[in-house]
Amino acid sequence: MFSMDGKVALVTGGSRGIGRAVCEALAARGAHVVVNYVSDERAATETVERIASGGGRAEPMRFDVGDPDAVEEAVTRLHQRLGRLDVLVNNAGIARDALLLRVRPEDVAATWRINVQGALWCCKAAIRLMIRARRGRVVNVSSVVGETGNVGQSVYAASKAALIGLTKALAREYASRGITVNCVAPGLIETDMTAALPEEAKGAMIAQTPLGRAGKPEEVAAAVLFLASDEAGYVTGQVLRVNGGMYV
Ligand code: NAP
Repeated sequence: MFSMDGKVALVTGGSRGIGRAVCEALAARGAHVVVNYVSDERAATETVERIASGGGRAEPMRFDVGDPDAVEEAVTRLHQRLGRLDVLVNNAGIARDALLLRVRPEDVAATWRINVQGALWCCKAAIRLMIRARRGRVVNVSSVVGETGNVGQSVYAASKAALIGLTKALAREYASRGITVNCVAPGLIETDMTAALPEEAKGAMIAQTPLGRAGKPEEVAAAVLFLASDEAGYVTGQVLRVNGGMYV
């Protein structure tokens, strides 16, 4: 089950955290994985080396998901070289937390540019190819706070809710072309993004989590792998929550 043999997958923000675990999970099932990143070349190289040392196939690809021209160019290059694109995982994201009265225009712009527009541009470039192939899988990485909201995360939560809307719209738009579009919505996951949170804030989130702990990137990756697989062919427009029960 969940074989990715012969498939090509692009994972945005695949160099670290959840994205790295997704790359490793897809590669372990046989996919050739393109590991996107924007700044941390060392982390991207490490992800590729980890996959190669386990016998998998991966390559790094630097581009900024928020730059529509760069996305088009990168996806076209990928397709010319590898001949196909079966799976797109829109995982790249940033969080700039602040109470509303301290939110700055540049934080809104950056969050929207990467979290929402970045996913949209990548979908546009990838789905164009998937339409021709009459098959494809898109998995967007939203967040529990896109459904529940959270204090200090109005901008981030709004961006992650927007991703759910994007997912549902594209699921309807491209179902007839054999393309499924779904979301995963992780709860608190141990990555660089959450390492910066104060222990008190993390403790409060874990206290709201029935399973009583933070999740691991690999636990999100397993859900992404399922949605990216042939076996998930009758699942589209859905939000798969991987949150330890934080929101049920
Ligand atoms: P992370 O450790 O901070 O990693 C973020 C990744 O996104 C990095 O690979 C980074 O690349 C990449 N990235 C950032 N801006 C980019 C851009 N403009 N273009 C291309 N790549 C870009 O984050 P994470 O915790 O693994 O989170 C991954 C996703 O899960 C995000 O969408 C996040 O919102 C979501 N999420 C996380 C949690 C959690 O608790 N951690 C919970 C719910 C949802 P560089 O290293 O090159 O900068």
